[in-house]
This record gives sequence, C-alpha cells and structure tokens, in this order.
Amino acid sequence: MAETVSNILEKKSEEDVLQGYEISSSSEITVPPKLIDQVIGQENAVEVIRKAATQRRHVMMIGNPGTGKSMLAKAMAELLPKEELKDILVYPNLEDSNNPIIRTVAAGRGKQIVAAHKAEAAKRKQMRNTLMLLLVFGIIGYALITGQWLMGIIAAAFIFMALQYARPREEAMIPKLLVSNEPDAVAPFIDGTGSHAGALLGDVRHDPFQSGGLETPAHDRVEAGAIHRSNGGVLFIDEINTLTPHSQQNLLTALQEGEFPITGQSERSSGAMVRTEDVPCRFIMVAAGNMDAMQGMHPALRSRIRGYGYEVYMQDTMPDTPENRKKFVRFIAQEIKNDGKIPHFDRTAIEEVIREGQRRSNRKGHLTLKLRDMGGLIRVAGDIARQEGAEMTTAEHVLKAKTSARSIEQQISDEYIGRIRDYDLSVVTGTQVGRVNGLAVMGSDSGSILPIVAEVTPSQAANGSVIATGLLKEIAKESIQNVSAILKKFTGKDIRNMDVHVQFIGTYSGVEGDSASISVATAVISAIEGIPVKQDVAMTGSLSVRGDVLPIGGVTYKIEAAAKAGIKTVIIPKANAGDVLIEDRYQSMVEIVPVGHIEEVLEVALVPQNREVFLDKLKKLAAEPVKALDPSS
Ligand code: ADP
Repeated sequence: MAETVSNILEKKSEEDVLQGYEISSSSEITVPPKLIDQVIGQENAVEVIRKAATQRRHVMMIGNPGTGKSMLAKAMAELLPKEELKDILVYPNLEDSNNPIIRTVAAGRGKQIVAAHKAEAAKRKQMRNTLMLLLVFGIIGYALITGQWLMGIIAAAFIFMALQYARPREEAMIPKLLVSNEPDAVAPFIDGTGSHAGALLGDVRHDPFQSGGLETPAHDRVEAGAIHRSNGGVLFIDEINTLTPHSQQNLLTALQEGEFPITGQSERSSGAMVRTEDVPCRFIMVAAGNMDAMQGMHPALRSRIRGYGYEVYMQDTMPDTPENRKKFVRFIAQEIKNDGKIPHFDRTAIEEVIREGQRRSNRKGHLTLKLRDMGGLIRVAGDIARQEGAEMTTAEHVLKAKTSARSIEQQISDEYIGRIRDYDLSVVTGTQVGRVNGLAVMGSDSGSILPIVAEVTPSQAANGSVIATGLLKEIAKESIQNVSAILKKFTGKDIRNMDVHVQFIGTYSGVEGDSASISVATAVISAIEGIPVKQDVAMTGSLSVRGDVLPIGGVTYKIEAAAKAGIKTVIIPKANAGDVLIEDRYQSMVEIVPVGHIEEVLEVALVPQNREVFLDKLKKLAAEPVKALDPSS
C-alpha cells in the first residue's frame, strides 16, 4: 500500500505542470487592465459583484483571509456606474458656532472654493498690513512734528493690537474641505477595517484653548469619517464583527439615512459639544469576515445587508484543471507587475509556484486560492533573485523562498519540535506501552508531533471514567467510546470498570483535534493489552464507531512534520492518499501507509510478537456487527 502513495508522489513530481501551455516566462502574459478581470478562481463572487455594482447593492463576503475580498470590493468601486461625485465642505455657523454648516458642491469645486476664500483672506491681510504701516508712519510723523512722543507710541500700540485681534477672525471664516474628489475619477474605495468610531463616523478634534482668541474654530476641527469619504463609492469593512455594537448601530443608521452628522466621539473632549448638520454618506457597503463574523455581527445590520443586497461565500481552492493553471500563471504575472521591482519568473519557477499552490490547497486535485500568501512567496522569491542579480527568477529561488518565507505557525512549530527534542519529550525510536506519536496541525499550514499517553487503572468508583483535560476530553471520550465495543468483546474487559487516563504530552493551545482519535484509540488499546507501540510510527486519522479510519485535514503538513522529527512510518487515512503532496526532500525519509480500518493501524503500529493473537481475535470480531458502548453510561 505504501507503494501507491510513493507512486502518486513520483508521478506528481515528474509531471509537466504546464503541459500544453507554451510560455517561457511570465513576461509573455498580459495582465488585464481592470481589477475585476484580475480576480481568479472566485467566479461566483465576481458575478455577484458585477450584479451588485450595476444595481448599487450592498454585499456581505464570507471567507478566509487573503482570498480576494478587499480586491473584489476595490474592483466593485471601478465598476460602479458613473454618478456625479460630490465634494463636501464645512462652513462656520455665525449664529451657533457649535453647529457648523455643511454644503455639497460638484467634484473638484471644493478645492476652488477654499482657494478663493484663502485668496480673499490673504488680500484682506495685505490691506490691513498696508493700513497699519501707513498709520504707524503717520503717528511717527505727527510725533516728529509736534514733539508729542508719548501719545504717538500709545496710539501706535493700540492700533497694532486692534488689527492683530481682527486677523484670526478672517482666517476663521475660510470653509474646510471635508471630502474632495476629482471630477472624472472612479468612485472612491475606502477601507474602514479596524476603524475606531471616530475614523469610521467622523470626529471633532479637541481644542485645548477654548477662548481668548487662541481657539481653533469649531468647523475647522471637524474631520470626515470613512462613511463620508466613501460617499458615492464603496465602503469596505473586513472583520465586521470586531466593530463595537455601538459603531455597528451607527453604521446601520448611516446606511438607512444616507447622511450622518459629525460630532466629537470622545465624551470629555470639547469636540463633543459640536455637531454638524447632516453630512451625506450614500455608500455601498461591502462587509467581510470569516464564519465567526456572522455571529458577532449586529443582527439588524446583517439583515439590512441581506435584505438590500447579496451574500457570497469565498472559495478556498479551485479545481486543478489546465485552464485554472493558466489562471494561476496569470496571477503570478499580476503579482510581479504590481510589485514592479522583482524580475519575471521563468518556466521552472512558474511550475514550482503551481506545485506549491497544489500543496497548499490541502485537497486532492485542487489549487489554493489563499492567494495573499502565495503573493508573499512570489515576492520573496523575486527578492532573492534580485539580490543575486539574476535576470529571471528560477525554481531554485522559489525553493529558497519557501524555506525563508515561513508563516509564524511554521516557525513556532519548528521551534516547538526543536524544544521537545531538547527536553527529550519526543521519542522516535524503540517501543513503549500506551504511548503513541499522534500528529496535529497548527494554524493552517504547519504540522507537529503530538505524543499521547494512556494509562488504565481499575476504577475505584462504581463506574469508570475517562480522565483527560480540556479539548482532549471530548476527543478521548469519543475515540474510547468507538473502540469500547471491540475491546469488550475481545478482551472480556469492560472499560466501564476502568479509569482511562489520557494525556497529550507538551500540549499547547490551538491543536486541531479529532484527527487524533486513532492515536488515542491505539494508545488505550496498547495500555489495556500491555502490547508495546512502535515509536518510529506516527499516525493521524479520525475513527468511526465501526472502526473505520476517516479522512482528516492537513495530511501533507503532518507527514512533513513527522519526517522532520525523525519518524520512519506515517499512518494516514486511505481517503487522504491523494492529498499527499510532500516536498521531494521528505520523500525518502518516511514510508507512508494509507489505512482504512483501525485493525490495519494496529497491524502497523503494535509490536509483532504480542499483537498476532490480539489481531486474530479482532478479525473475527470485525466480521460481526458491533455496537458501541458508552463508557460514561
Ligand atoms: P482578503 O481581503 O480576502 O483578505 P485581499 O483581497 O486583501 O484578501 O488579497 C490580498 C492580495 O492577494 C490581493 O491584493 C491580490 O494580490 C491577491 N489575491 C487574493 N485573492 C486573489 C484572487 N482571487 N485573484 C487574484 N489575486 C488575489
């Protein structure tokens, strides 16, 4: 069986990934000018965005980071039908200085108006200065002629102060440009992600000098928010659930009303006394987030978006077809063009990136669509090529980039593997009773060894229990429940009379769980029967109540982690055999054994002498229907 996986791997690494696509480098690819045409693999989302743009509807996008949500929102702004964009100005209110006046004018006019006011103020200032000079000279002349010096000096000082006092009032009358647009520009795209209330809804700055001629006039302290700057365009907010409920409530009001006054957001600031007239904010909302975002979102806001717009789910992967590989090549060309500094990729480099795209998809016959990370890899590879003064980026640069551009999770996982080695927590040789090397995934792209130990003792109480902590408790209970029937029939030992202790060694938070269930089951069987487990074997797989080994995620990363730690044999679910895309350097280091049933797991993992009798009985049992017993009942 191990051969099947090796064969798959060999075939994959020999395969010409660009077959039939005659290009020698990424420089031959033309990048479409429109952003919407640059999006790859999200056909459904693209269609929704096109529709929503023509009808000016809101959109909610759910999906993983780096799959193109903000790119699509930006693309939507480009697609919006041309409507007249506006400039927004704020004027002082002479009757109530705390209620500044809002005016909208055609795009581009705002700047002219402010400039005209400034010119006017400058002209007055000039006149005033001239007048002042004339008066001062006049007084000096008068003093010279009449000899009344004291009177002259007093008069000059008085005039000087009076004119000084008048100066700020002139400047205070100049309106402030809140939102400015170019006359023929595309609709604005504003990213309001992570904004605090002030940045989102607008704010009025605090004025430390609130009187005495030094104060800044109220209208001059008014600042537009993202909702106002996106007037006539798109407001994009990622991780929408992280906005405070108060901000979400205000956002909803802004959406409904199409205008929202600006007031100081911090209560104790002098800005809180100021409240402008209504400021227009007719924007299209593109809200984004992962599945959690739906829960954290204000229900009224969500239903508003749903009722007046579309919801779309972003894909994580796309089928690995020749057509999609071509799109992937175009993606590489796009990233190179956008970066503008890195050299083009030759054919070998393109092939290597596509192979990495297959690996990262974590799924048989698919390419990843977590393209922000792929873009990162492309840039690092390009930077390495540039540093070396290479004309083209090659496969070698991509491979180097893969080792240096590791995600935080990968770096932590490597550190962790190193550390458990230091403390000798990892045992990868010899045999032990009740100890199994499980495998887990950390983050989304790195694996690690997860040793599990089990100990069985006669129960002190009437009923035995499964003793484990936290996350492990559920997994342990479930796996033990699933093997309890098999165990009872075979051994005559009812685990309901025993306490089963299970522990993950050196565990840390964030370990993904149910794929450990065959490991837990193996550890428990080993402990009950006293049969040692080979420690150079690691395993991953989920367990059904019938003892079938079910598929799990992240198989490639887990195998690579096992190989790195010095494991010789890795047991994986048969259904995952096609997902294995480990790097060449690991291929000779481990033997991969796909299995379909717990019995096969035991066959590989348990030490031969003692296991035969056990397995013979087990085989007989497997033919009969089994019923699970609940250890906790
Ligand atoms: P998200 O908003 O989903 O986190 P982004 O839209 O910010 O992701 O994506 C970051 C970058 O990754 C984009 O600027 C683009 O270069 C690249 N990218 C992501 N998804 C796609 C895609 N579907 N097609 C082309 N490029 C993409």
